[in-house]
Amino acid sequence: MSCCIAATTSIQTTPIQPQPPALVGGGDVPIAASPALAEAITQLGVAVEQLQAVVNAMQGAGSITGGGEAPPATVQGTSLPKGPISLPDPSPDPSPPPAPESKPEPAPAPPPPPPPPTNGNPGKQKLISPVDGAKITSKWGDVAAIRNSIPHTGQDFAVPAGTPIKAAAGGKVVESAFHEINGHYVIVDHGDGLSTFYGHQSERIAKVGDEVKQGDVIGKVGSTGLSTGPHLHFGVLEGDPANRKDIDPVPFLNGSREV
Ligand SMILES: [Zn+2]
Repeated sequence: MSCCIAATTSIQTTPIQPQPPALVGGGDVPIAASPALAEAITQLGVAVEQLQAVVNAMQGAGSITGGGEAPPATVQGTSLPKGPISLPDPSPDPSPPPAPESKPEPAPAPPPPPPPPTNGNPGKQKLISPVDGAKITSKWGDVAAIRNSIPHTGQDFAVPAGTPIKAAAGGKVVESAFHEINGHYVIVDHGDGLSTFYGHQSERIAKVGDEVKQGDVIGKVGSTGLSTGPHLHFGVLEGDPANRKDIDPVPFLNGSREV
């Protein structure tokens, strides 16, 4: 401790040299001639002594070592370890740890719609037009001499020969044959006793037993059977395979009924 006192005392004992007299009131006034200044100097010396006392007290507590190794200080009777003090690790951050850096998961995509069922009880399907760009030349119920005045049993779509015929809904091909009146025709069963009929084809593509999806090409437009020109006779049949009968296809084609 003595070394420290000496080191600090050198500051205290530095004589205070009177500074050149400051200009006071516009004239030179010798410092010794100013009682107030002399008193201030005296008080400054007292302040320095008091400051030294504070420094000594701090050295006694080991806070200031003056460059040397301080003796182990005691706090409330407990010796502090010498050497560098290893501070404990900072307390864990109470805030929750940051989320692992990862790209946010994209919102789960909605499940894909179930594939259109093709047979059995497939659920309801709205029909699509079995041919594109068709002109209806004969409607359900029309009476014409060519049919011996029997009301028309379907919708006739006049399109060029060879136009692809699409399954209006998914289902199972239950008939693919030739008939003297219907020509080459295909029947697709959609379940629940409903089927669709495609007649007068020039070429049948779908075979009995085929599972077709809505839009699959099942044949090509022709004019086979009892026909006056290339067209597709499209019909909707209701009933079990042994007793199918034609029903009005228009509500199915306009979407008000489903198969
Ligand atoms: Zn027809």
